[in-house]
Amino acid sequence: MHSNSQLVIIGGGISGTALLYTAARYSGLKKITLLEKYDDLASVNSHARNNSQTLHRGDIETNYTLDKALYVKQAVDMVVNYAKSQKGAPLVHRYSKIALGVGEQEIDFIRKRFEQFAPHYPGMELFEASAIAAIEPNVALMADGRPRKEPIIAMGSRSEYVACDFAELSRSFVESALAEQGCDIELNLGTYVQKIEENSASGGFRIETNKGTIEAESVVACAGGHSLLMAHQMGYGKNYSVLPMGGSFYFTPNMLKGKVYTVQNDNLPFAAVHGDPDLGVEGKTRFGPTALALPMLERHQYKSIVDFIKVFRFDRDVMAVVINLLKVGDIRNYFLKNLLYEVPVLQRYLFMKEVQKIVPSLRFKDVRYANRFGGIRPQLIDKAQRKLILGEAKISPGNGIIFNMTPSPGATSCLQNAAKDVQSICEHLGVNFDKERHVDELAYDFTRSSSTAVHEEKV
Ligand SMILES: Cc1cc2nc3c(=O)[nH]c(=O)nc-3n(C[C@H](O)[C@H](O)[C@H](O)COP(=O)(O)OP(=O)(O)OC[C@H]3O[C@@H](n4cnc5c(N)ncnc54)[C@H](O)[C@@H]3O)c2cc1C
Repeated sequence: MHSNSQLVIIGGGISGTALLYTAARYSGLKKITLLEKYDDLASVNSHARNNSQTLHRGDIETNYTLDKALYVKQAVDMVVNYAKSQKGAPLVHRYSKIALGVGEQEIDFIRKRFEQFAPHYPGMELFEASAIAAIEPNVALMADGRPRKEPIIAMGSRSEYVACDFAELSRSFVESALAEQGCDIELNLGTYVQKIEENSASGGFRIETNKGTIEAESVVACAGGHSLLMAHQMGYGKNYSVLPMGGSFYFTPNMLKGKVYTVQNDNLPFAAVHGDPDLGVEGKTRFGPTALALPMLERHQYKSIVDFIKVFRFDRDVMAVVINLLKVGDIRNYFLKNLLYEVPVLQRYLFMKEVQKIVPSLRFKDVRYANRFGGIRPQLIDKAQRKLILGEAKISPGNGIIFNMTPSPGATSCLQNAAKDVQSICEHLGVNFDKERHVDELAYDFTRSSSTAVHEEKV
């Protein structure tokens, strides 16, 4: 391992690799190092098994406001334009996608949302029941071909780039970064970051790993929930705690042709269940994710319970946030239901009931728990304001170190978030960031993309 670097990136998931690519191609940085504790890239939340593989454009995600939707739309444009510029197997995939409204109240909601969103989403259509039957027969019709009982409507698109294996995309980012001339890139897999310290003599940072120490002029932590732990260890972001929300999935035989999202209950802070084809498992439809608070920073890694305890910093403010959440009847029932989704046998029955909103003819025997699928969304708790922060968050003290926490839609916004970080690191180090080339090649709306939809704490 080399002893110093201009930029050290911690974490080889979609966020860290998108940052590596953006820095290598669009900045004047000459020496960049990526440190990843596992021997593979993108084996945690960015792995195809562990997230919903959706490029969130914001139109069918009914929990997104128009502002947030137009912000993430830019992020999708960046990913799609990058993917289209690459040779080889496609990195992004086209499907139909709909937000489904069931019953009069949701129908009314979808009609109003369509009117508001349609001017900003040119390919979007409103689908009545007969049109839904042509796109997603199992949503509109029963097994015997009769229409389902409840009235339905949907808004969405017949074909759009909407799915991505974010692990494949991560590998592509690294290959593209390594192909850039004029930038020395060091990729250190199997390298666990133990400690980061400010180096007062150099004005940079000293990073201790299991393979030795490295000096860095700047650091960006893209380590999921562990980024907050690193921030706390350096004395930053102490007013934040984390609520790790596990998400599990279920498989059924092939029932859907594209992505089917449902209308969000406004009281619930996490996205409603949806269904779609799995990019990695042929002949199955994947439904989920569930949302269950779990005391660990990394799914299925029980060692990360200790890290969670360190970063949770349970006190009166954290308790107040949890109590406030549980005071809302819908949230309480939702948490309870999601707990029961983890109980063998009962989970299949309860989940079948939930998914029958999407596929009314679904039967108990069709539903299987997707073993070892699913990840953790590290939702931040703002202790000072006693509230849960939804979406991604960033702690940026302004001294050349940035900590990224990336629940959904963190994979979709990988290039958008990376651009912000590279720009800010370049400003700090006095190095050029070629914004014109970035905007030109990734073809997005810079002004819209620079809005503040990511929660950012400048310390
Ligand atoms: C159930 C579920 C569904 C989701 N669905 C979607 C979706 O459809 N669309 C979407 O856009 N987003 C989705 N997300 C969110 C998305 O998965 C994440 O935002 C994204 O994967 C985060 O990428 P990351 O690189 O920041 O983190 P990760 O992929 O978690 O990578 C962090 C990396 O840091 C490494 N690391 C941690 N600590 C250290 C250390 N000390 N030293 C060295 N390395 C370290 C880890 O090994 C890991 O490789 C979903 C998440 C979940 C859980």
